[in-house]
Amino acid sequence: MAGWTTLSIIWTCFVLAVVNGRPNVVEFAPPEPQCGYRSCPATSDTMLNVHLVPHTHDDVGWLKTVDQYFYGSRNDIQHAGVQYILDSVIPELLSDPSKRFIYVEIAFFARWWREQDATMKGNVRKLVSEGRLEFVLGGWCMNDEASTHYNAMIDQHTLGFSFLEEEFGDCGRPRVGWQIDPFGHSREQASMFAQFGFDGLFFGRLDYQDKDTRVKQNNMEFVWRGSPKNLGKTSELFTGVLYNHYVPPPGFCFDELCNDEPIMDDERMHDVNIQSRVQDFIKVVKDQAQHFHSNNIMMTMGSDFQYSNAHTWYKNLDKLIKYVNQQQSNGSDINLLYSTPSCYLYNLNHLNQVWNSTKDDFFPYASRENTFWSGYFSSRAALKGYARKSNNFLQVCKQLDVLADLRRQGMFATENLRVFKEALGVVQHHDGISGTEKQHVADDYAQRLAVGAERCQLVTNAAFEKLLPKGSESAPKQVYCSLTNISYCDFTEHQKQFMMTVYNPLGHLITDFVRIPVAGGPYRVVDPKGFNVTAQLVQVTNETKRIPERNKSIATNELVFMVEVPPLGYSTYFIVETNNMDEATSQSSKTVSLPRDQSEIPLYIDNDEYLVNLDNINSNTLGLTNKRKNISIPLNQAIWWYEAHGGNCSKGEFQASGAYALRTKGERHRLQDDTSVYLTTGELVQEAHMNFGPEATEVIRLYKNMPFVEVEWTVGPINIKDKLGKEYITLYDTQSMASGDLFYTDANGREILERQRDHRNTWNFNNTEHVAGNYYPVNSRIFIQDKNQNQQLTVLTDRSEGGSSLESGSLELLVHRRLLYDDHFGVGEPLNETGADGQGLIVRGKHLMILDTIKDSPALHRSLALKSYMAPSVSFSELTMTPEQAMTKYNTQWSALKKPLPANVHMLTLEQWTDTPKIEPIEVPQILIRFEHIYEIDEDPVLSQPAVVDLTDFTTFKIVTMKELTLGANLPLAELNRLPWAYIPDTKEELLTKEKLLNTAISSSASTISLQPMQIRTFVATLDKMH
Ligand SMILES: [Zn+2]
Repeated sequence: MAGWTTLSIIWTCFVLAVVNGRPNVVEFAPPEPQCGYRSCPATSDTMLNVHLVPHTHDDVGWLKTVDQYFYGSRNDIQHAGVQYILDSVIPELLSDPSKRFIYVEIAFFARWWREQDATMKGNVRKLVSEGRLEFVLGGWCMNDEASTHYNAMIDQHTLGFSFLEEEFGDCGRPRVGWQIDPFGHSREQASMFAQFGFDGLFFGRLDYQDKDTRVKQNNMEFVWRGSPKNLGKTSELFTGVLYNHYVPPPGFCFDELCNDEPIMDDERMHDVNIQSRVQDFIKVVKDQAQHFHSNNIMMTMGSDFQYSNAHTWYKNLDKLIKYVNQQQSNGSDINLLYSTPSCYLYNLNHLNQVWNSTKDDFFPYASRENTFWSGYFSSRAALKGYARKSNNFLQVCKQLDVLADLRRQGMFATENLRVFKEALGVVQHHDGISGTEKQHVADDYAQRLAVGAERCQLVTNAAFEKLLPKGSESAPKQVYCSLTNISYCDFTEHQKQFMMTVYNPLGHLITDFVRIPVAGGPYRVVDPKGFNVTAQLVQVTNETKRIPERNKSIATNELVFMVEVPPLGYSTYFIVETNNMDEATSQSSKTVSLPRDQSEIPLYIDNDEYLVNLDNINSNTLGLTNKRKNISIPLNQAIWWYEAHGGNCSKGEFQASGAYALRTKGERHRLQDDTSVYLTTGELVQEAHMNFGPEATEVIRLYKNMPFVEVEWTVGPINIKDKLGKEYITLYDTQSMASGDLFYTDANGREILERQRDHRNTWNFNNTEHVAGNYYPVNSRIFIQDKNQNQQLTVLTDRSEGGSSLESGSLELLVHRRLLYDDHFGVGEPLNETGADGQGLIVRGKHLMILDTIKDSPALHRSLALKSYMAPSVSFSELTMTPEQAMTKYNTQWSALKKPLPANVHMLTLEQWTDTPKIEPIEVPQILIRFEHIYEIDEDPVLSQPAVVDLTDFTTFKIVTMKELTLGANLPLAELNRLPWAYIPDTKEELLTKEKLLNTAISSSASTISLQPMQIRTFVATLDKMH
């Protein structure tokens, strides 16, 4: 998205002396047309080369859905049709070898491509092979960087890259990142781009104070160190901030969507303006050039959905180039040329310059005073949660496709997976998962995820059909329940007995608790080996029953029990309703509702790990004790809200809180609490239910032996009858930990970044918004530390949220927003989600709280974060016999690994792979497999050590050959040859660390691979055969 007003130029009538001048071409002239840097246009080393980059920015959904944008439907909302852009640009390129165009979003390009005939495809391939049409970035979309998870980011790029590789070979491989519109930039993204093999990154938005400083200091281009501590040089990326956001300089937009004056150059005609247009352009060139280091600058000639009539752009640019370059014969040193970001980059690389560097990220982004774009960290909390869960299921689906060898059944799995992959791909867009799209577009994203998940269920069903039966018995259909978070599952509520299959996508043995909505009881629960399993029935509360999305549910209880699932495998459990109390393994919970002022009754819940004391509930203060470590803190833990600022956004002081911006008014308010607390206790789970009036509830939960405190929050419908928009937070205020002004948040679920309140490392930060200016993306965790007391309080999230520490010892997370004003960044709607009954959306999510020593916390938060985003997948099926009979017919427990992966290793990717996916099914099966070290250096004395993975541990396939690829899986790592960039390191020690890592990073043998902290290694492997 972009908001930009083009300025019209006041022109004067003048006669121009036309002289045929040519630029003084000296260096870098390519010998013959080829793609990549060899296809770059000639530049002059004695002139100021102005790289004009014709481009279009095509949002994969925003005001219209991705398909509406493609076809150009609903032009009443926004005049935009991507198909016409490509239809229009290609003939322009074909007609003139000097012209260039870049294309970015593969979700659109792939839609267009499949409609083209062989002639057109041939023409486009020629353009790509000559570098005249160049793909930059090359993801399925230009993903958001604040609310995306690294697993989904890598996947959506891999999806785009594989399309480009398949259709265009190496000439389709993108060389640069192009994040021109996302609203803040993540260091993890930079690290990822470097590992994709990109030579550089360009982006458009950064804090206005940061940009002012960088412009003044000629520091718009630098080396971004994406993982200075862990990955060193592998993660370094040359980065350029675009001077004019991503639009043309004012007055020079020649698109038919713009109102700027065309170049009028016939002196016989009235209104001829060529003289003034040339002089004006020379002025903007000189203005820009003084803020850059070299004799090359780049100008983005295009904007949102532009070039649907490419001729208007190119015709005027042709004239601009011609007449500005003619001035060279009058002594001008300005040389305009059609170019691309990678060719601009290539020229910079030849300067042999030593650049500045940075280790910071670019969050939060402020566009002016009072206007911090930190609201979208939390906007559309339900969509953010759904996207996270969907990624979880996609990984399950891809794994089962491989492990059950569904390739042998033809392309059906691949085709169904494609639908889900593409759905996840578009949702990562910077107006998708960010929550900054119109409501109907958010609905479309959710529908895509739902359709994709349904298609994937066909794949998992096919897999279980192969894996479950021992003999010729066919496996029962697996049914999935996506609403168990609100205690609703149509299948289990209506079955007297059923099977439950739990698939574990992690390479480690897991124990976890499941909660199954049921309408009867008691139950006998039987494990995969035939042993009885203790279960606990927990009543569905009235607070849950009021959620309108579950109005068809008849569940009265949730059946809770512990499951144990082997690595990359499944366990099948049997649930049978019984009237025989001797048979039943489920027990009802004890429930009691206690008034808060009844102090003589000790009020607490506990397990072996934690004790949560609720005695002081009246003041909302809990006592939180880690029993094993003997750490106790008071904790003000409750749901609070901020009033959202209204306003017409005409200037900073009138900025409204909206889908993008967060702007709170006044102090936070505590919700009115109920006068009692409801406890439900039993052998497996202890719960304290607290109500905060009609708008919010919380359940604090302790599962047997689980080393965390679960806080389940339910917020909504947010009351707007008072005509106030509201921002709901959960507060974790320890009132005892001295964490000062420091706190820590993760980047896209991976590395941890230190944050300092009211401070930025590289400029003198004047914070005009105490709350919004201190909010950061929390993709998976936030924590504070008290170094003197050796305490760390960590809160893990189940989706991306905005969070901060606004006072020493305190954490908060923004979990749900309901707003009444648009924040004037184009979306044109207030963020007012109304839910199934139109009364206001209710959102439910979970936080996991860990109180531990600083040293022992990483082992817990790393493993819990992994288990949270890659949770076991639960499916149900009919049981028409006794569990004992079923055990003779089905494999009730199974693992694809002989032994678990090391505790610090995660298998990030396992999917079918082929260099030529169109040929089906190929004889030699190939897989794409990624292993990841999930710890940073020095986080844990044991788990931060390098890890070794034994590739012979798979039971279902044998790896014959392995080839290591770049992270995006589109280039053999051995062939990667990135452009080198010299920079000024911060310290000598850092330089040494960097070099040390470099020497050890790439080493491999056939049967094992090694992993350094935070390293992800990507391989394509061929398999001998599946069993
Ligand atoms: Zn955009």
